[in-house]
Amino acid sequence: MKIEHIGIATPKIEDALAFWRDALGLEVVHTEEVAEQGVRVAMLPVGEPRVELLEPTHSGSPVAKFLEKRGAGIHHVAVRVADIRAALARLKEKGARLIDEEPRVGADDCLVAFVHPSASGGVLLELVEHRDAAP
Ligand code: ZN
Repeated sequence: MKIEHIGIATPKIEDALAFWRDALGLEVVHTEEVAEQGVRVAMLPVGEPRVELLEPTHSGSPVAKFLEKRGAGIHHVAVRVADIRAALARLKEKGARLIDEEPRVGADDCLVAFVHPSASGGVLLELVEHRDAAP
């Protein structure tokens, strides 16, 4: 397993880039809107893992709710796994509370699934599997 990315919630990606890109010096390699999750994302590699900036696209978005409750900051940690279904089955067997029982398509055309923060001691965890067919 590897750290795939760290998701950071921000009310506005453009404002967050003033720090992450302009001040710190990271480069934006990918941006996209994930309609299903109600977010716009920008990916900035830090070595192999990436910072994933998340901006809500509407007020009902889970990230909008997170910003309301907790403010801007670390939203989730994503771990890359080889077989996301096997990882979910193992977690379920160990009694971890899952948000997604089945993987879905996330940013960058990866398969993703979220594990509830109550399972990990307060950290929202995202599992990511890179599909071989992905460009
Ligand atoms: Zn993520």
